[in-house]
Amino acid sequence: MVDVSRRRSVALFIMLGGGLISVILLLFGWYLFQWRSGWLLALGLLLLLALIAGVVLNTFFLVREIRRNEQQDAFINAVTHELKTPVASIRLYLQTLQTRSVDDDKRKEFYGIMLSDSDRLLETIEQVLRTGRIGARSRGPNLAPIDLNGIVQECVNRTRALYHIAPDSLSFRPGPEVTIRADMEEVRAALSNLIDNAVKYSGSDVRVTVETTPVNDHTVAVRVRDQGPGIPKTELKQIFKRFHRVPGTGGVRIPGTGLGLYIVRSVAKRHGGRAWAESEGVGRGSTFVLQLPVAK
Ligand code: ADP
Repeated sequence: MVDVSRRRSVALFIMLGGGLISVILLLFGWYLFQWRSGWLLALGLLLLLALIAGVVLNTFFLVREIRRNEQQDAFINAVTHELKTPVASIRLYLQTLQTRSVDDDKRKEFYGIMLSDSDRLLETIEQVLRTGRIGARSRGPNLAPIDLNGIVQECVNRTRALYHIAPDSLSFRPGPEVTIRADMEEVRAALSNLIDNAVKYSGSDVRVTVETTPVNDHTVAVRVRDQGPGIPKTELKQIFKRFHRVPGTGGVRIPGTGLGLYIVRSVAKRHGGRAWAESEGVGRGSTFVLQLPVAK
């Protein structure tokens, strides 16, 4: 509902701006007809240009303000939901442990669930902090030579352990050894987001492959391919925007804040690289590519 009313007000402001410009142009036509020459014409022309520029600027800033508000709402919705759900779950298990006598096995199971809920909570907080850090342009990446295959292997192992996945379901095919000059923490975050997403959106049928391949002498690519729900063509660029989640392809049901791919693209840009998504469409899997420059 909020979205529809926002879109309506954006359309209204654009129409209003367009309408005002048309009225000004009509007035100018009439004015030209009345005053065909002289300094008044030049002055009128100047005033007209100033008016048009004013209307265009006004419309532009209004629309930008509406978009900013929209982003803030999306942020509050996504993050509060992601913070509230695990806290509510932990509270419920604690209440159960406090009020009922629970046998040892059940107690252990509850502790396990509470631990993974608190991990999810920490991950959300870390994701928000990371977005802030990466967005702050004053601080550049902390560059150091990194063995790419080593860091990819580390992220693959982490995701396997986190989601309890067999190596067959999440495999890594390392290419030739290569060193990149990068910020270890940022690259680790970008790779983990891509690999976690591939697993997370695959549901119960996880078939994910991660590869490193040289593109040319200066660039190397990491490709993360899954056989999951795929991504509609119209969404391939949108998903890299902050808080954007694809409705209907599992994106809204699966927990998330919509910050992961924004972090991936920001990290790629900060290192002089690129990140993009490829998919043949819904139901046909996706491939995410992260290209980074090789160390000289
Ligand atoms: P989050 O996963 O927290 O929603 P991301 O920024 O990582 O945020 O992803 C944005 C959206 O892109 C997701 O909500 C989902 O709709 C879509 N997406 C990301 N990775 C995949 C994938 N491997 N397969 C299908 N959809 C994906």
